Amino acid sequence: MVGKTIVIALGGNALGDNLAEQMAKLKSTARSIVDLVEQGHRVVVTHGNGPQVGMIDTAFEAAAMTEAHTPHLPMSVCVALSQGYIGYDLQNTLREELLDRGLQVPVASLITQVIVDEHDPAFKDPSKPIGSHFSKAEAEVMVRNGYVMKEDAGRGWRRVVASPKPLDVVEKETVRAMLQAGQLAIAVGGGGIPVFRQGHHLKGASAVVDKDLASAMLAQLIDADLLIILTAVERVALNFGQPDQRWLDHLSVDEARRCMDEGHFAKGSMLPKVQAAVDFAASRPGRSTLITLLAKAKDGIEGRTGTRIG
Ligand code: ADP
Ligand code: MG
Repeated sequence: MVGKTIVIALGGNALGDNLAEQMAKLKSTARSIVDLVEQGHRVVVTHGNGPQVGMIDTAFEAAAMTEAHTPHLPMSVCVALSQGYIGYDLQNTLREELLDRGLQVPVASLITQVIVDEHDPAFKDPSKPIGSHFSKAEAEVMVRNGYVMKEDAGRGWRRVVASPKPLDVVEKETVRAMLQAGQLAIAVGGGGIPVFRQGHHLKGASAVVDKDLASAMLAQLIDADLLIILTAVERVALNFGQPDQRWLDHLSVDEARRCMDEGHFAKGSMLPKVQAAVDFAASRPGRSTLITLLAKAKDGIEGRTGTRIG
């Protein structure tokens, strides 16, 4: 299977929670990605930003409270900063790995914006967890300070922000041009900067788009053959975490839809991945999505592991 156009979405486990972890983890992340470039595939890399965007927002909020010259940053700007913070490390790590293997492939991160709808119901029901985990008492203080907090799957309380549906990727032509020129693009980082279209003007939205859904949207727009979602599990499971748990090799689009309806996939973690997989696989015959572990990307493409949807 040579010469496919592949969108690779990196999850939190590929990036780590702080700068030191990010630099260390990206080394093995780069190896997995460059394996695919070496096999002749055209690759676009996308990534999440949950912990990073929370950290950036918290840092600026804290500074604004104690220092009169520090502005409150809109969430859209926090997402833009997270694209730079992660993209800088990611593109340099990829560059080094490519050069070490004698591959002359230019690599660059693109500040990427994603169109969202002002009337998206998500703005009334914040659901996307960002930043670190807090105790109940800490969360209560934050609620008094105007944040929306939710309990995150037994792991503590986290701040949640609106996560509207991505409708279009503003810089899609540039991503396409980079691919055609044989370049490695890093795009829709953190789900892309959410913006409302106002004539020729793009207005930043206070939200964080889900990176899996944004990656599926980008994959459709650049006419990719394959979407690979790399995460912390090797396969998708039915009855996840229960005694009758069953790991899946393959799901058709219809089966995946049925399993979503039956509630097999946790909201905010596996559900958006399966939804993204279905969006992409259903968008045109021949398209499919692979969900697997970062280290198994190559094996997954060769059909040896992972869950394929479509
Ligand atoms: P990422 O940072 O890659 O987006 P998430 O934590 O958001 O990772 O989602 C991946 C996690 O989803 C897995 O580590 C697993 O704990 C959880 N998960 C929830 N439901 C399922 C399921 N049905 N099958 C496999 N994993 C699941
Ligand atoms: Mg996630």
